[in-house]
Amino acid sequence: MSTFHPSPGTSTAGHHRALVLFSGGQDSATTLAWALTRYSHVETIGFDYGQRHAVELEQRLVVLDKVRAAFPAWAARLGEDHVLDLSDLGRISDTALTRDAEIAFDEQGLPSTFVPGRNLLFFTYAAAIAFRRDLTVLVGGMCETDYSGYPDCRDTTLKSLQASLTLGMGRDVVIETPLMWLDKAATWAMADALGGTPLVEIIRDDTHTCYLGDRDHAHAWGHGCGTCPACKLRADGWDTWKAHRL
Ligand code: ZN
Repeated sequence: MSTFHPSPGTSTAGHHRALVLFSGGQDSATTLAWALTRYSHVETIGFDYGQRHAVELEQRLVVLDKVRAAFPAWAARLGEDHVLDLSDLGRISDTALTRDAEIAFDEQGLPSTFVPGRNLLFFTYAAAIAFRRDLTVLVGGMCETDYSGYPDCRDTTLKSLQASLTLGMGRDVVIETPLMWLDKAATWAMADALGGTPLVEIIRDDTHTCYLGDRDHAHAWGHGCGTCPACKLRADGWDTWKAHRL
């Protein structure tokens, strides 16, 4: 298990306003908490692209409300939430996330849930909103450790995109990915370090990860079908974190 050492209160010099790509899942909720310890003003953005697990769009509002209620200091920093309708992305991608199909893996190991270039589009839309809102830092929960073969989650991809957005927007665009080198167990540990049991419980009970959109089955690690790749990763991470904690 990799480790996480929080250093609350620090931020990139001159960059105090951030926009968090917040899907309503475990990773982006942990990333949001991370941003709220570092930036004086934090806004959130979500994307509606016809994903099968559209329940995450509902859960993201529940998480935002609960974070505001449980952490007054963070509530003071938490600003507007933006949701963009990217239904065309769903139409052109034709993957298991947006149509009724089994999740499988192709010969390159890419799961059929892969929406090609999704994060490139998400960050580019986020950068346009951030420009209008005078937010200079974009924060995402992408991670190479558990990235399941998604090339647009790679550190190199996002560093390249940061350079392109900075050039294309004509001003600094900083992309931060605090989970990039953490596994799922370390992500639970990070939530615990940032917000203790209240934050862990919000993330466990109210974030949504399951690819199938299942919120009917409750487990120690949260709700989900328990068998899709996203549920397995989340459950294994929870178990590993708990084992190290005892
Ligand atoms: Zn699942």
